[in-house]
Amino acid sequence: MSNLLNPVEPFLRMERIPHIWCPGCGIGTTVNCFTRALIESKTDVQKLALVSGIGCTGRVAGYVKLDSFHTTHGRAIPFATGLKLANPNLNVVVYSGDGDLSAIGGNHLIHAARRNIDLKVICVNNLIYAMTGGQTAPTTPNDAITSTAPYGSYEPAFNLPHLVEAAGAIYVARWTTYHVRQLARSMAEAFQKKGFCFIEVLSPCPTLYQRRNKLGDGLETMKYYKECSKVRHGAPTSEVALSMTGEIVVGKFVDRERPDYRELMQHRFADTLGDRYVEAGELVCG
Ligand code: SF4
Repeated sequence: MSNLLNPVEPFLRMERIPHIWCPGCGIGTTVNCFTRALIESKTDVQKLALVSGIGCTGRVAGYVKLDSFHTTHGRAIPFATGLKLANPNLNVVVYSGDGDLSAIGGNHLIHAARRNIDLKVICVNNLIYAMTGGQTAPTTPNDAITSTAPYGSYEPAFNLPHLVEAAGAIYVARWTTYHVRQLARSMAEAFQKKGFCFIEVLSPCPTLYQRRNKLGDGLETMKYYKECSKVRHGAPTSEVALSMTGEIVVGKFVDRERPDYRELMQHRFADTLGDRYVEAGELVCG
């Protein structure tokens, strides 16, 4: 028997394995990419915190051997914002699902992007509320069958890259769980950026979304991702909306710079408080 350690293992709480994710689910693949991104980017894990919300993806916080927080539904971004502002030296990653981040947490998502809070948001998008039984989510494509839309969804879906770019994100990318190398590289790149970064990862939910829509199992979905994805770096995000079985535009769509929230705050206090301002971000009270 080999003594070689899987390179991912040091980043996992192995005592909690086996995990709860269904066979063919893509979430575990994203975690594998995440740990490889940590290795590739030589990120100091002592200065890294990971925050998850509620849902199947929210369970990531419990499986990684990092300082991690499994928070309340839709509130991963506010928890992460507080963490980042209290300890700016931390690299704070938000790891959650499309339902958690764009529905109950949607308001936090757009305002964190608007403020350019220095967070790295990994959004695993399986196009549905998975953990709670397969209800329509803000990302569910038109015509898809869900437990709350048995005749097909007719609500227009969010185009998440377009939403966060419009709100102010400085880095926006989309990959699928088929694009493991590109995804890991994209995560590693985002770790080096300062500001609000958003990576959407399309991921199968064979148990609820794929089964109800007769789209096959996890392997069939990998074939769909392989055959129907088109890499278009720099594509206008207005053109990357998803449909149920159509083309999936993937790539890095946005990579730009602007002052993050803390820098803006520092400039304001330096301007208004003059010599009462001691050094970046630290004020003399009283
Ligand atoms: S319900 Fe869907 S998203 Fe949740 S673990 Fe199972 S396959 Fe994955």
